[in-house]
Amino acid sequence: MKFFADCMVGKLARWLRILGFDVSYYRRIDDEDLIELAAREKRLILTRDHELIKKASRRRGLKNRLLLIESDRWEEQVEQVLDHFNLRKKIAPNSRCLECNEKLKFLPKARARNLVPPFVYEKADSFALCPGCGRLFWKGTHFQDMEKKLARFVGQKK
Ligand SMILES: [Zn+2]
Repeated sequence: MKFFADCMVGKLARWLRILGFDVSYYRRIDDEDLIELAAREKRLILTRDHELIKKASRRRGLKNRLLLIESDRWEEQVEQVLDHFNLRKKIAPNSRCLECNEKLKFLPKARARNLVPPFVYEKADSFALCPGCGRLFWKGTHFQDMEKKLARFVGQKK
């Protein structure tokens, strides 16, 4: 299941990526371009914009691939998407690049030694590399806050 988040739901897009989902997102994009790309890549459109829903539903193949996001709070937006598409069992945290949406490749700790500052290398226990932009991600103590937020989505089973 792949998504296309419109400009108004950037935080939702980011969090869906953190949870491991494939989400296209542009800070600025015309409705027509968004509709074209979503149709071509068979993505589900996530939007708060009634006009966009109207326009996209006229496009062949997109009619049943639209979700109007109800809340203006990102936590509730994430909940809505997870529940609507029944995605809670498919959550795979930290498996996707937050910047370019590529799937991350696991990197053995020894290979990360020269790529990060020593204190990061000491503290972190797992590393992952983005094949798209080359960014390196790691799990460590300073991500506890994010982990806490993550637990909220992973923990709830409905
Ligand atoms: Zn990347």
